[in-house]
Amino acid sequence: ANGAESFRFMNLGGGNEVGRSCHIIQYKGKTIMLDAGVHPAHSGIAALPFYDEFDLSTVDILLISHFHLDHAASLPYVMQHTNFKGRVFMTHPTKAIYRWLLSDFVKVTSIGASASSALYTDDDLSESFDKIETVDYHSTIEVDGIRFTAYHAGHVLGAAMFLVEIGGLKFLFTGDYSREENRHLNPAEVPPTKPDVLITESTFGTATHEPRLEKEVRLTNLIHSTLIKGGRVLLPVFALGTAQELLLILDEYWSQHQDLDGVNVYYASSLAKKCLAVFQTYINMMNDNIRKQFRDQNSNPFQFKHIKNIKNLDKFDDFGPCVVVASPGMLQNGVSRELLERWAPDSRNSVIMTGYSVEGTLAKNLLTEPDQIPSFQNPDNSIPRRINIEEISFAAHVDYEQNSKFIELVDPKTIILVHGESNPMGRLKSALLSKYSKFKGTDQEVKVYNPRNCDELDLKFKGLKIAK
Ligand SMILES: [Zn+2]
Repeated sequence: ANGAESFRFMNLGGGNEVGRSCHIIQYKGKTIMLDAGVHPAHSGIAALPFYDEFDLSTVDILLISHFHLDHAASLPYVMQHTNFKGRVFMTHPTKAIYRWLLSDFVKVTSIGASASSALYTDDDLSESFDKIETVDYHSTIEVDGIRFTAYHAGHVLGAAMFLVEIGGLKFLFTGDYSREENRHLNPAEVPPTKPDVLITESTFGTATHEPRLEKEVRLTNLIHSTLIKGGRVLLPVFALGTAQELLLILDEYWSQHQDLDGVNVYYASSLAKKCLAVFQTYINMMNDNIRKQFRDQNSNPFQFKHIKNIKNLDKFDDFGPCVVVASPGMLQNGVSRELLERWAPDSRNSVIMTGYSVEGTLAKNLLTEPDQIPSFQNPDNSIPRRINIEEISFAAHVDYEQNSKFIELVDPKTIILVHGESNPMGRLKSALLSKYSKFKGTDQEVKVYNPRNCDELDLKFKGLKIAK
């Protein structure tokens, strides 16, 4: 034997797409699964990763990067309805938020047309919950020859990158990550050890983000001008994560603009109260900025002064200009969809898309400024669309410059791209290959892969020293 060991990688989801993230790694007889999400453009079984294509009973450990549905929402299904018997790990805040988020997901997927396609029940959720183990950032855990450590990933509260080591080979999985400091989170950190393989997200491909301050100004100006002309503003958001960041921006803006005193800002989420407590609990995991506010003013910055929480639209008095921050972010159903349909015919209103919109969702379609939108209750009916549509991205993902800079600092020789639609991912691959073209054919050569779902990638690594 030449000592070459096979490193196998396969996407069960999240290959050349955004959604249902799930990646399998096999090396030296160990199997690691990364994330277990659902696809936001589909429902029921169709939203799952391709679990049938792999024997889940062989998985040793499953690491969940963060609480977003496209990374975590099929976990109760995996744990309760498949032959999976491995151990599951996530950070403390991820587990705390995961519980409320998924019980909301169960509720949403068990009403109306989608009831028959519910993937699991509340009982499945609570049974699986107790079996999930938590990890601290920067503390290495060893499970039967697999060592792994969680690092800050930015993105959302609790998000982690995992550095995994098996038999001397190291790989880093970024999950979703951001390198920009925002109002409450630390940016992603570069792990102290250099990995052989980097598995990175490619959501924004080679695109460049608008500077943070500029987009905040654009957002608040647009909201203000819509309200002045008597319009309503809808901000569809994923229930948690970027929503809290937007609420911090709005709360501050309202406190600086007395003329907006009578104008209500609502956060329409059944999770708002429960999750406020989680954000309160984990303020020690946020950035200095927010910890300082917490200390100096002796008040919780997430205890908003100008924002009203509403559970649903039952008690919502839809009269005059207002701002509503509502989920889901891609307008598939629920409160954000209901308000969009209600407000779509009036040209004074604005809907501002602040998140990443996945292919196949109404959110993505809306960006093409259609004349009509389908009614959720009755898809054969369409509603005239005159509402103003704007996109100001607050999605906490790296852009090309941030991603390529991070890759440079991490310095891997093998890069596997996941979590991106085919085109942006393909462009990112080309840009990276041309950036590293000078090393081609040398032992410094950088290889970049963008495998499709269920395509097995087989890489050989020679002569790795076993860390003792
Ligand atoms: Zn995410």
